[in-house]
Parts: sequence; C-alpha cells; structure tokens
Amino acid sequence: MKIAVLAVQGAFIEHEKKLEALGAECFELRQKKDLDTEFDGLVLPGGESTVQGKLLRELDMFDALKERIESGMPVLGTCAGLILLADQLTNDGHVYFGTLPVSVRRNAYGRQLGSFRTVQEFAGIGEVPMTFIRAPYIEEAKAGTQVLAEVDGHIVAVRSKNQFGMSFHPELDADNRIHELFLKTVEA
Ligand code: GLN
Repeated sequence: MKIAVLAVQGAFIEHEKKLEALGAECFELRQKKDLDTEFDGLVLPGGESTVQGKLLRELDMFDALKERIESGMPVLGTCAGLILLADQLTNDGHVYFGTLPVSVRRNAYGRQLGSFRTVQEFAGIGEVPMTFIRAPYIEEAKAGTQVLAEVDGHIVAVRSKNQFGMSFHPELDADNRIHELFLKTVEA
C-alpha cells in the first residue's frame, strides 16, 4: 500500500511517521512530477488551507488530485485538509477541491480556544484523543455524509464514501486507530 502525503506546506511529516509505523509506504507530493508515481491513498495534512490551495494551483497539481479524489481514491483530510475537501466554507469565499459534501467554518473556535485537546467518541473506534489547532468545524454534513465525531455539539469528523475529513489532528496523538481505519479503507 502506497500513500501519497501532500507535502507543500504544513504538518505532513507526522502523518508519514504514523502511516509508516502501521506498515504503509509513504511518499511526498511536492511537485507535479510526483504525481507520476502510482499511489493508493492520499493524505491532506493540516497547515494553512489558503497557502496549500494556492500552492496546489501554482504547482499545477490541483486538477490531477481533484480528479483522483472524484474517481474514488481514499483520502484523509485533517484540519486544513478538511477545508480543502469541503464543498462550502461558511466564512470564506473559497472552495478548493469541493468533493466532500459539508459546510465548514474556518478558525471556528476563535482566539481563546485557538488550541485545545479533548477525548471524545469516534464512530466505530471508541474514545480517541483529539488535538485542535486553530481548527475548523463542520456546520453541516450534507446528504450521504456520515458524522463520525462531535465535540460540544459541533461536528468534527465525517466520512463520505472514501473521503474522511476531520477538524483535529490525529497524527499528533499517540493513538493510531484513525490512521488504521484509513488504511483499512485503502486496502478495501
Ligand atoms: N486555520 C487553518 C486554516 O484555516 C487550519 C489550521 C490547521 O490545519 N491546524 O487553514
């Protein structure tokens, strides 16, 4: 199993460490020619969605990645990655890939709660630690989207077909089960 990790900006190394610890092979997508390599799954890491979106266009990687996601390639988007996947942003005029039917609020927790950790139930897994960093949350999970986790009444993780989107950073905690779930989807 070969997983491509978008590595133009943000917290990609932590995802690679997790996936490799679970036995997956990873490689970094840094430029267009990296897309010539075959891969089975894609990780869109946290970071700054505006910067990532701009770089994906400038590096001419945007359309090819969007096409793969649309044709069903399993994808895990965390934080900024969730923002890139969302088909609607409620406090920002941008839409990036727009493949995941959710409306997302960027920087939804405001300044005081810029970063926090909690432990909450995640569908099919149980209680998992969740680290939020200037995180978005999901205001609406639209038709066909399964809610996987909520924190204080706000949706923080969803799945739609092969796309997983989450507000928090599962790559920053010691728990491996979310990456395991993703790899199982890739395997299937
Ligand atoms: N605030 C960032 C954004 O809007 C996301 C933060 C993160 O990925 N940790 O893109």
